[in-house]
Amino acid sequence: MALTGIQIFKLLPGTNCKKCGAATCLAFAMNLASGKAELDACPDVSEESREKLSAASAPPIRPLTIGYGDTATKIGGETVLFRHEKTFYNPTGIAAMINDSESDADIATKVKRFMNFQYLRVGLNLRPELVVVKGAARLAEAAKAVVDNSDMSVVLYSEDTAALKKATDALAGKNPLIGPATMANCDEVAKIALEAKVPVWAKAANIDEVADLTKKLTAAGVKDIVIDSGARTVKDAFTDSVAIRRAALGGNRDFGFPTIAFPCEITDNLAMQTAISAALIAKYAGVVVLSDFDGASVFPLLLERLNIFTDPQRPMTVVQDIYPINNPDENSPVLVTTNFSLTYFIVSGEVEGSRVPCWLLIKEAEGLSVLTAWAAGKFSGDDVGMFVKKSGIEEKIKHKSVIIPGYAASILGDMEEELSGWKVSIGPREAAHLPKFLKDYTVS
Ligand code: SF4
Repeated sequence: MALTGIQIFKLLPGTNCKKCGAATCLAFAMNLASGKAELDACPDVSEESREKLSAASAPPIRPLTIGYGDTATKIGGETVLFRHEKTFYNPTGIAAMINDSESDADIATKVKRFMNFQYLRVGLNLRPELVVVKGAARLAEAAKAVVDNSDMSVVLYSEDTAALKKATDALAGKNPLIGPATMANCDEVAKIALEAKVPVWAKAANIDEVADLTKKLTAAGVKDIVIDSGARTVKDAFTDSVAIRRAALGGNRDFGFPTIAFPCEITDNLAMQTAISAALIAKYAGVVVLSDFDGASVFPLLLERLNIFTDPQRPMTVVQDIYPINNPDENSPVLVTTNFSLTYFIVSGEVEGSRVPCWLLIKEAEGLSVLTAWAAGKFSGDDVGMFVKKSGIEEKIKHKSVIIPGYAASILGDMEEELSGWKVSIGPREAAHLPKFLKDYTVS
C-alpha cells in the first residue's frame, strides 16, 4: 500500500539537510510520494525506515533485468494501466526463437542476421535484444553459440531441468531468463535460479494457476519472476495480459510481475505473430517471442514500442546547439529551428539529403514544434535573434545570413531588429521542400 507524503515524512531524519536536493525533508517526502524522487537520494535515512519505505514504495509490478551489456532488457516496474495516466517505463523485450537442433554454425549465421535489424530513429538505435533458445540435448551449446556470436541476451527454454542447469552455468555472468518453471518442477528451477542469481519465467497451466505458481516460487526464495499464463490463443493471450496487469495494479502481489508471451506458439505465420505481438506490446507484455525476425516484422514493432514507451508528458528533445551537416564551412548557409526532436530529425534529414553543406542551429523551445513554439512565445523574433547572436555561429561563418522556418515567417521583423546587419530569409514551410530551397539559396 502506497504511503502518503506525511507518512513518508515521519520516517525521514527530519534534519532538512538538503543533501537530497530538496529544500526540506517534507518536500523530499512529497516528491517521493509522487514518484518524482528516489529514496536513495537521502543518505541519512535509517535502515529500519529504509525497509519500511522500500516495501511501501515498491512498484506494483516488480522490475527486473534479463541479460547483460547493451542488450540487457529491463521489464516490469510499471505503475499505470493507461499510458496517458503517467507513462510506461520499461519497453517490451522483443525476442526470436532458436532451437537447439540447429547447428552452431547456423545459429551463428542467424544471430548475426538478427543483429542487422538496427534502425537509427530520432537519435535512438532501435533493435531487438533477445533470443529464446529452446531445447534440451544441446541447450547449453546453442545458448553459447548465441552469446559467442552476438551481443543479444538469452531466454532459456527447456523442460529438462538438467539441461537448464547446464545451460544456465554455461551462461554465467550473462543473466539469462530461465524456465519454464511449472507447478511440477518449480522447486528445481528455483534452485538453479537462486544459485545462478538469474530470473525465472513461470509457466502456468492457465490464468487460474498463476497465483499458486508465483506463490510457490516466492516461497522458495525467487524474487525475479516473469509470468507466462500458459495462453496459446490470441484471445487468451490478450485477456490474460490485461487481467494480470489489472490484478497487479489492484495490489495483488501474486500477479505483481512482468509477463512473457509466445505469439510464435500461437501461429506459425510470422505476419500474424507480428500482429499479435503488436497488440501485446500495447497491452502490457514484458517480452514477446516471435519465431524469427525479418525487417517487415521487426521494424514496425520497434517503432510501435518506441511510441508507446515514450513519456507522453515530455516531448522528445535534442540539445540546443550548432549542428554541422554535410561538412559546412564559413560560406555555408545557416538554418535555425526548434529542439523538438521530430523537427530536428526531419529537417536534418532533408538537409543531409540535399547534400548542401549547412549549419543547423537548434534553439531550446521546450520540445515544441515550430508553429506551437511560436504560438507559445518560445520562438519569438527577439528570442531567436538573441539565440543566434549568442550561439557562437558567428565564429564559424564569414557571412551574416540566416534562414528561419516558413511557419515562423512572422518573426522576421523582430529578428532583423535584434540581429542588426544580418539578412534573415524565410525558408519553406515543409522540410521536404528544403533541398530545392537550399540549392537555389545563396548567402550574402
Ligand atoms: S537528505 Fe534526507 S535528511 Fe536531508 S533533507 Fe533530504 S530527506 Fe531530509
